[in-house]
Amino acid sequence: MIMIPRIRHMISRKNISKNALKVLYRLNKAGYEAYLVGGGVRDLLLGKQPKDFDVTTNATPEQMIRLFRNCRLVGRRFILAHIIFSSEIIEVATFRGDNSEKQYTTHYKNFHFSKSGMLLNDNIFGKIEDDAYRRDITINSLYYSMADLSVRDYVGGFRDLREGVIRLIGDPETRYREDPVRMLRVARFAAKLNMSIAPETAEPIPRLALLLQNIPPSRLFEEALKLFQTGYGYLTYCKLCQYKLFQLLFPTLANNFTKNRNSITERMLVQLLKNTDYRIKNHLRVNPVFLFAAMFWYPQLKSAEIIAQKHSSDLTYYDAFSIATHNTLEEACQVLAIPKRITSLIKDVWKLQLYMPRIYGKRAKKLLLHPKFKVAYNLLILRATVENTPELIELSKNWSQYKTSKNNIIKKISTNSNTLGNDIIKQINNNI
Ligand code: ATP
Ligand code: MG
Repeated sequence: MIMIPRIRHMISRKNISKNALKVLYRLNKAGYEAYLVGGGVRDLLLGKQPKDFDVTTNATPEQMIRLFRNCRLVGRRFILAHIIFSSEIIEVATFRGDNSEKQYTTHYKNFHFSKSGMLLNDNIFGKIEDDAYRRDITINSLYYSMADLSVRDYVGGFRDLREGVIRLIGDPETRYREDPVRMLRVARFAAKLNMSIAPETAEPIPRLALLLQNIPPSRLFEEALKLFQTGYGYLTYCKLCQYKLFQLLFPTLANNFTKNRNSITERMLVQLLKNTDYRIKNHLRVNPVFLFAAMFWYPQLKSAEIIAQKHSSDLTYYDAFSIATHNTLEEACQVLAIPKRITSLIKDVWKLQLYMPRIYGKRAKKLLLHPKFKVAYNLLILRATVENTPELIELSKNWSQYKTSKNNIIKKISTNSNTLGNDIIKQINNNI
């Protein structure tokens, strides 16, 4: 273990949340070891403001319940304590047992692995060293001690952080087999922190990428949001393609990719992810409905056209489009469990694209009041940017003018009268 004393690192208590400090002090005072760990320490050492602060301790969940009045135990796979404050929740985990194979067989008979080597149960407490080795990458395994303000490094994370290297802890292949999501995390952190991936950490990824098929689709959905909606989506996408991971998460999209990497699906992805990154940097909201609606738009369109052509005598284009929507989303959900509340809105946004060309008349007015109009409008703009055809550019310009003029009227009506809902619609229809 390397101990980096206070004078050799730049973590200052004033950058740590007051509540995290309270939890650390209280644990120390009660005689337990307690450390800040994970992304929080990594980001503080990089001079960035952490998203959240995780604490780890040798106190068991039962001991924490006794120590903190505002404590709830959560989690099934691994029990965690949530210390609840009015403004934030501090997550406290008891040191977890080491999960190297040697350790399992000699010490922990309770661990279970699947056929591919995946770790199935992970609920064993251990010492801080064990906890350090079971984390994913070295820079995520640094411990900041409140007792002496030092940083403790069991796996070489401090040097890797200085040198900008993403390195898996332990034997990479074994660690990927235990939890294939680590492959996605490696790609994500390399993109987010602009770091290089150590060769031995990178080498097994394309070979083992298929193991992602063993991950529950609900977990992959959560991971996908972290990959694309946390500010470094475009670079993460490039890394995922480079390491053959993207095609496992999005087989439908990858089937539409071309050798010259210039298919409409790829151009849409690049534009979409660059826009999303820009929005996050500027503290604007991002929306998973828009993300997935835009990602799958061209495959959806292609599928609708194929179905419409095949059934030109017995199906309207609208029906073919609906069948394609159903198929496209079902196929996507086999890998990523996009929740129903999101897929049903994606369906709305896609359907609205069919109505967008009708810019005048009653239908256009109704469209503007649709709850998903804004998202549909944004998709139209993105399509116009990607396709760059005069028709789409003209259409998006017209909608933007129409939208502004109608919005002004909506504002006027809602400030001038108390009428709501349908009454507003009636008034708009009468006004224009
Ligand atoms: P972020 O800034 O994205 O939140 P993070 O490092 O805090 O980054 P989390 O997903 O919040 O990432 O996880 C917290 C910590 O838990 C990590 O820093 C790492 O030490 C550990 N960890 C998370 N996922 C895994 C995993 N799949 N395998 C091993 N350790 C993990
Ligand atoms: Mg975190």
